[in-house]
Amino acid sequence: MICTNNEFIAQDHNRQERLLDASFSTIETEQKPYILIIFNIADRRIQAEKALRASEERLRLAKQAAGLGIFDYDFKHNMVYWDEQMSMLWSKHTSRAVSYDEFIAAIHPEDRASRESTINHAMDPAGNGEFKAEYRVINPVNNITRWISARGRIYFEDGQPARLVGVTRDVTDQKNLQKKLQIQRDETESIFKQQVAALTASAIAHELNQPLAAVSAYGEVALHELHNSFPSSDNLKRALEGCVGQAQRAGKSLHELMAFLQKGRLVTKRLSLNDIINDALKIVSHDYYAEFNLILDLQPDLPDVQCNCTQVQKVLINLFRNAIEAMHTVKFPALTITTTMYIIAGMRMALVTIQDNGPGLNTAIVDRIFEPFFTTKSAGIGMGLAISRALIETNGGQLWVNCNTRTGATFHFTLPFAS
Ligand code: ADP
Repeated sequence: MICTNNEFIAQDHNRQERLLDASFSTIETEQKPYILIIFNIADRRIQAEKALRASEERLRLAKQAAGLGIFDYDFKHNMVYWDEQMSMLWSKHTSRAVSYDEFIAAIHPEDRASRESTINHAMDPAGNGEFKAEYRVINPVNNITRWISARGRIYFEDGQPARLVGVTRDVTDQKNLQKKLQIQRDETESIFKQQVAALTASAIAHELNQPLAAVSAYGEVALHELHNSFPSSDNLKRALEGCVGQAQRAGKSLHELMAFLQKGRLVTKRLSLNDIINDALKIVSHDYYAEFNLILDLQPDLPDVQCNCTQVQKVLINLFRNAIEAMHTVKFPALTITTTMYIIAGMRMALVTIQDNGPGLNTAIVDRIFEPFFTTKSAGIGMGLAISRALIETNGGQLWVNCNTRTGATFHFTLPFAS
């Protein structure tokens, strides 16, 4: 039997060597003292030690891979015990402990108060003792700032906070990425805001463009009349009434646009679609001196629709105006307006069709005409159809165009019937 440090190697009955742990104790009797020797086969202990070492090594590797540092802040002695990972971040060469004041000195001055208040909160015996904080650490050697995320728990002794034990992780890369993403988000938001501003401005311009042009035309008529030797008061009155009417229309349109943009709430009424079409036609024939053959095919018993009158009127005026402008080169311009009932996806809707006999639209243009700012006109803004489609959709319908270059352009839109 060989003996080292209470460990023995012995041979069992198969002549195999076994490691034994021995423990000794003396037993005193009245006659003489005895020594009690207990032998234990050491295999299990060795296996347990091996497993512990392996698990410690795995933990160390996992901690290293996750970039975790471990700290233990002892309140009573005002010391922070830490590991190598943390001492590296604080740029201290001791991997055992530092005073709490030294520990705090490296924390960014702006982050100290919030970190301290999180600790105070965690120290409340009524709470769950959890500590969670993010703060910056300025490396005293190279002045490089790193972001640290710390998590821990307060341990109480006799109801008093005794230690704060936890882990830290360097989250600088994550913070930098977040910052970069935030900058990108801010930029996108600012571009979006600019686009919204541009669209709002062009929507306002679209509302004002036509009435301003009409006011100017009426003004010129009035001036022309005044240059006559015998100005006709009737003509002057008509021109000035035209000016006033157009200016009021522009004001009303702007007011409604602003109300819609601010509230985003749509006020709809039960209305006769044929009446709205007739009113819009009156406005257009007032504005345009152009002659065209009007073919009206309005279904007389069409049920009422539920919509916002001004918005639908605006769409109609825009479609009529586009049609009239498209037909200016045509010898016998003709505008056909039809209303009927239409079933779409099993739902009954009112359908309006506006067809002109202008040059029509080729497929390349059809694909783009509803895009904001798309125009083929020298003085066009290209917002009319984009706004019209948005308005019809807001009213629960749809607006589309037929691609047809033989018979001109045909626009359709639907609106829901009033229930
Ligand atoms: P704008 O009238 O300012 O150009 P719109 O959005 O109302 O803006 O129209 C966009 C474009 O669609 C027009 O520039 C024109 O090319 C085309 N378009 C619209 N209606 C017709 C039509 N009835 N016939 C031919 N082209 C049309």
